[in-house]
This record gives sequence, structure tokens and C-alpha cells, in this order.
Amino acid sequence: MNKPQIGIISPCYNEALVLNETSLRLNSVIEELILKNCISEKSFIVFIDDGSNDSTWKIIEENAKKHSQIKGLKLAKNVGHQNALLAGLLTYKEDADALISIDADLQDDINVIEEMIIKFSQGTDVVYGVRKERKNDSFFKRNTALLFYKLMKKMRVNIVYNHADFRLCSKRVLNALAEYGEINLFIRGIIPTIGFNQKTVYYNRLERLAGKSKYSILKMISFAWNGITSFSNYPLRLVTIIGFAIFCLCLIMSAYALFGLYTGNYVPGWLSTVLPMYFLGGVQLFCFGIIGEYIGKIYAEVKQRPRYFIDKKID
Ligand code: UDP
Ligand code: MG
Repeated sequence: MNKPQIGIISPCYNEALVLNETSLRLNSVIEELILKNCISEKSFIVFIDDGSNDSTWKIIEENAKKHSQIKGLKLAKNVGHQNALLAGLLTYKEDADALISIDADLQDDINVIEEMIIKFSQGTDVVYGVRKERKNDSFFKRNTALLFYKLMKKMRVNIVYNHADFRLCSKRVLNALAEYGEINLFIRGIIPTIGFNQKTVYYNRLERLAGKSKYSILKMISFAWNGITSFSNYPLRLVTIIGFAIFCLCLIMSAYALFGLYTGNYVPGWLSTVLPMYFLGGVQLFCFGIIGEYIGKIYAEVKQRPRYFIDKKID
């Protein structure tokens, strides 16, 4: 492939404190790669203003005037990191051979961008940026993040460990992404399900350039919950399993109680009080679970996710 045209997509929500520095750094990465003949001169950077209420958009406009590579996209209101990112990816997918998403606070190492592009030039469709360590994150952030990945795994959500949204996607992967019509799109979970040729690059997670994290504890919980419920019916299955287990336990208890009745070793009234309680509880939960399984199926159908993507064609 000759020099690919690359776009960098960066969602910003109230990032006025970091934007000038981020623009400068990303711009110099792009210029350097153009000079090295790695990427086309038409490569660009887009900042997505996710309904900020500080001077973020003004700064984007100023930087777009200063640097010819910089573009801006302003969203009508704050729609959250995932949707802002999606807006950027879908709006610019036709303008580049591949798009790289990166947070505006530059916590992800821009020095691996070149490695991503090299991998892309060699035919990789998705390059995940994966954090080697989180020395610079707070104790709280590090452990909640760890818990997040573990929980996702337990709940059968297939995501790349320690990968946030720093990644390169080729045009065909972005076209595939565009076919997912779901409202609650969990991009990190979707990309691995698309397939094609996927690789990883490693980097150290840095500190925020400036400003505060936009993810409060509540936002993090809601993010994790969204991830689980939009990818897995496992919580529903869990209900079925628990119901069935209680039901089985009840059968064992009945056997034990009947044995007591037979040997004359029993408390009057105990059997008729306790057993039906467990029995009905188990049966009820089990039935809920079964209903849940059907709801899960309906849920999967309602999402109307595409079932396959064509990798190669020989004409
Ligand atoms: N962000 C956004 N919309 C939001 C919240 C965050 O576009 O509603 C952007 C934010 O500006 C940043 C990225 O998403 O570029 C990641 O957010 P942040 O750095 O606050 O998250 P953390 O790194 O702490 O997980
Ligand atoms: Mg950050």
C-alpha cells in the first residue's frame, strides 16, 4: 500500500486546559510522520467537542486556524465519551484509510502511533493500544479498572484486557462498526466481535496533561453496567442457575425430611412449613430465569446486529 491517509479522532469534554498542548503534540506527530513518508499529506486530526461548557470549542477553532491538519466537530450536546467517539469515527470514516482514536488528555502514549500505522500498512485492520502498567494512575483508578476487566470477563463480555479506546481501525472495520444500529454502543466490546486482522501495541499509561478525569464513580459504574447488559445475557442465565440449584436443594431436603418421617425423628409442622417455601422459591426463580432467557433472545433480536462481515473477495 502506498502512503495511507490517517485521521486521529479525539473526543473532548471540557478539556480547555489541555487542548492547546494536545493540538501541538498531535500535530507534530502527524507532521513528523508526513515528513518520514509514512502517511499521506492529507492526514488529519479531529477534535470532537462533546457539548462542553467551557471554552473547548473556541480553542478547537483557534487551533484549526493555526494548523491546517486540525479539524473540529461539535456535537449538539454532551452524549458521553462512547457516543462522541462514535460520532467522530462515523463522520470521518470515508475521509481516511484508517482512523486512530485517542483521549484528549493524552494519557495514551502518542509515540506508539507510528507503530500502529506500520502495523496497519502491513495489513492489520485493528491495532489495540494496550497499557503495560498503570503506575501513574491512582490506587483507586487502578483497582476499579482491574475490577472492571475482571467483571467483564466473568460476565462473558469479550474485551481486550487493559485496552481503553486508544486504537486504530481500518476503513472496512469502521464500515462494519457503522452497521451496528444499537443505542447503547459499547465500542470496546464491539470491535473484537467484528474480527478481521487484529493486533496489539503496548505502551505506558501516562498522567493526564491537566484537568480532572471526567469519569466519576457513578459514570464508571454505569459504563460497566452498560458494557455487561449490552453484551451478555449472563445475568439472566445466573437467575436460571440459582433457581435450579435451589430446586435441587429442596429435593434433597425433601428426601432427608421423608427419611426423618420414616424413622420417627422429626419436628411436627416443620416439613409442611419449610419445604414448600424452598420449593416454591426455587421453582419461581427457575421460571423467572426461563422467562429471562427468552427476553434475552428477544433482546438479541431487537438489536439486529450484523451476523458477519466479508473479509476478502476473489473476483
Ligand atoms: N469525554 C467525552 N465526553 C464525556 C466524558 C469524557 O468526550 O462525557 C472525553 C474526555 O474529554 C477525554 C476522554 O473522553 O478525552 C476520556 O475521559 P477521561 O480522561 O475523563 O477518562 P479517564 O481517562 O479518567 O478514564
Ligand atoms: Mg483520561
